[in-house]
Amino acid sequence: MSRNNSHKFIIISLILLVSLTCLYLWHIRKTGVSDDFFAMDTIMSLQAYGKDADKAVSEAREAILGLDAALSVTNKDSSVYRLNSTGSCSLNEDLQYLLERSIQIQEMTGGAFNICIYPIMKEWGFTEKNYKVPEEAVILELCKLVNGSKITIDTTADSVSLSEDAMIDLGGIAKGYASMKARDILKAHGINSALINLGGNVCAVGKKPDGSPFSIAIKDPEPDDTGENTFTGVLKVSDKCVITSGGYERYFEEDGVTYHHIIDPSTGYPAASGLKSVTVVSDDPTLADALSTAVYVMGKDRAVGLWRTMRDRFDLVLLSDTGQLYITEGLKDCFSSKLEYYIIE
Ligand code: ADP
Ligand code: MG
Repeated sequence: MSRNNSHKFIIISLILLVSLTCLYLWHIRKTGVSDDFFAMDTIMSLQAYGKDADKAVSEAREAILGLDAALSVTNKDSSVYRLNSTGSCSLNEDLQYLLERSIQIQEMTGGAFNICIYPIMKEWGFTEKNYKVPEEAVILELCKLVNGSKITIDTTADSVSLSEDAMIDLGGIAKGYASMKARDILKAHGINSALINLGGNVCAVGKKPDGSPFSIAIKDPEPDDTGENTFTGVLKVSDKCVITSGGYERYFEEDGVTYHHIIDPSTGYPAASGLKSVTVVSDDPTLADALSTAVYVMGKDRAVGLWRTMRDRFDLVLLSDTGQLYITEGLKDCFSSKLEYYIIE
């Protein structure tokens, strides 16, 4: 190749390289990068738009998988497993944050949220999917244990300990925290448009690439046969998390009775507060996840009482067992539904 030709070759190659890179970046900005995987016992999906989306999404996925491994009650190598089996373990940033928030939310919800619920979850077989209806006397004893349990955090020694026989389960708050971590990672990579969906725990980062808000549908717990009314409602949001809990998510049947996985710590039985589904909308996914579980236990009136004391921190969509739909005032401009609904002020 002559000198002239080799120059031409280099220039054409460079132009091609730059064009392909631009095309790739344009493609990512427009269609985004998405990743679906299984963690924390559910299907998760991350979708991000922006220059660094590829790297950001894979980092977020790794962080979620790491949290899953560290917080699982069944993984023998996890901190939580160690804490439950020996009564103490060393603290790390994630565990400390989760424990402190859990204790705070337990107080805020009058004990409706209580991570010391684990012995009762285990007795019902929800942890290992070996479901059974426990003896009433056993439940009564376990309730005393759950409600009397203490978690002692020692930040000087960087350790946490549990009172005798106590065991914790972060299943009601871990996904919310994982979505907060994922959101932080995406933002650190400069992503300002993304959707994080951790098995129904949905967080919108910014707006959609076209500048419109994300539409997040709330699943109908009992969709009709026509397949038409599959959503209770739709929320149009940006920079908000929408987290739903309901007894229809995990349950078993025995002798024609359905038993689900959200337990009322005051009775030891699946919560029966008159609600079918609870959605919490908040900037704070850790709070929203724990509250969605707690409000399902508390029922509408207690939940509304709590909302009135901190209405700037979260909003609610509540579907009652009898099909009545309620939203709190903060959602009135972003919620829509085919069903009639009441606005709580
Ligand atoms: P999902 O995990 O199906 O999204 P939730 O966020 O409502 O639903 O969490 C349910 C999980 O929370 C249960 O599987 C259990 O691990 C835990 N849990 C159940 N009842 C309580 C409770 N009263 N307080 C705290 N955690 C609970
Ligand atoms: Mg929850």
